[in-house]
Amino acid sequence: MTASLGLYGLGVMGSALALNILEKGFALHVGNRTASKVPPFVQAAGPLGARATGHDSLAAMAAAMAPPRAIILMVDAGPAVDTAIEALLPHLSPGDTIVDCGNADFHDTRRRAAALEAQGLIFMGVGVSGGEEGARHGPAIMAGGRPESWAHLAPVFEAIAATYEGQPCAALMGPDGAGHFVKTVHNGIEYADMQLIAEVYGLLRHGQGKAPAEIGALFGQWDQGRLKSYLVEITAAVLSAVDPATGLPLVDVILDQAGQKGTGRWTVVEALALGQSASAIEAAVGARGWSAEKATREVGEQILGTERKPLELSETELEGALLAGRIVAYAQGFRILQAASETYGWGLDQARVSETWRAGCIIRSALLGDIAAAFRGEMPHGQLILAPAFAADLRASLPSLRRVVAAAVLGGHPVPALSAALAFADTFSQGRGTTDLIQGQRDYFGRHGFVRLDTGAVHQHGPWAVTI
Ligand code: NAP
Repeated sequence: MTASLGLYGLGVMGSALALNILEKGFALHVGNRTASKVPPFVQAAGPLGARATGHDSLAAMAAAMAPPRAIILMVDAGPAVDTAIEALLPHLSPGDTIVDCGNADFHDTRRRAAALEAQGLIFMGVGVSGGEEGARHGPAIMAGGRPESWAHLAPVFEAIAATYEGQPCAALMGPDGAGHFVKTVHNGIEYADMQLIAEVYGLLRHGQGKAPAEIGALFGQWDQGRLKSYLVEITAAVLSAVDPATGLPLVDVILDQAGQKGTGRWTVVEALALGQSASAIEAAVGARGWSAEKATREVGEQILGTERKPLELSETELEGALLAGRIVAYAQGFRILQAASETYGWGLDQARVSETWRAGCIIRSALLGDIAAAFRGEMPHGQLILAPAFAADLRASLPSLRRVVAAAVLGGHPVPALSAALAFADTFSQGRGTTDLIQGQRDYFGRHGFVRLDTGAVHQHGPWAVTI
């Protein structure tokens, strides 16, 4: 790393990332829109602050940095990034680099990369996962940009990243928007996994009357097995927490309306734009949207009043259902990555993506090592669910998923993500489906033609018996 390094945006993520960079021995120029936050940051950094130089504006920061400069932006995604770039531009020299480490929409990253490269500057879009704790002590880092730009910055990012068996969880995913796209899909998978976990929690809580702490202990047990993952681990911790004010389980004093910042929705939108359907991720995004309609749900309870019935499901069945759902969620995420890689010519290395997710990020799980191995091994039609290890997992766990979804449906318990996962697995378990009828309907009303099974030829139209 020969460039002078700066970081702008000392919010939750930016502060944590800056401390991480300083701790790894790099000198760092820091700044923030609200400049009054800069001196307290440097002071609070303690001994690490000795390597930090605070500035009250981007102009001052750029002026104090020797070229070539590399300036990390860690500000709100969207217009704030463009504003910061505009403010920086007059003060940069050819060969300087701007690195957007926020959760940018990859279309914005592609646009910014093209615009800045036309001006002789370098732009990298880098996804950072792991929340504040990850940013401070080791996130997973998904970079997008030119290989030579990455080679230049890799010493910093590899030093601050999480490691898995000594390997940094930081990699160049591909050019321009590839890093931010991988981060977006990471978040989409995160949405699905959280929803699947919440659905299984709901079945245990409302269908079996178990107490949160008891369910937390069960998730803790599952975290020792095939479901081992950060999200299952923190689920155990969340369910075991008690509210000091009331003595109630903490989860019971939390309003059941889920927030979202957009990356889950982007995943679904991009999946559809690429001709994919990430149905488990879509179910999770939709469920968060429905959860926001609390008042409507309360009126619905009065008017429709579907009674939730007790469920006879074993812990093993619920564990199997969660595993099958998780495998499908990952598989759908990787299908989107594959489609985007082909569409944008990124040449994404899916095995490397899985390896980058093995530590530091929110979806880190025991499955990711096996996923990387699957992508390097035999994988019929490039589909994760058909790779031998995952096909075996699914053959073993799909009966549980089917029984859990069936019992939940009959018992009036909504399980949108689990049922979406099951429908996906069932669809890809059957060579002949029902779109023969859809093709017939399309030809009937729109003369779209259809392919005949017997000849393989396109049949232009009908004959359809006309009925009145
Ligand atoms: P945050 O704590 O709310 O901090 C936002 C930062 O952006 C502050 O430094 C703020 O400056 C600055 N900012 C906002 N609008 C700006 C503008 N128009 N011009 C210049 N600066 C502006 O947010 P955060 O959680 O650190 O998130 C930062 C980025 O990281 C976002 O893209 C987010 O999606 C991404 N991210 C967050 C997480 C997470 O777990 N929180 C994880 C991964 C990625 P002021 O101090 O002046 O308001």
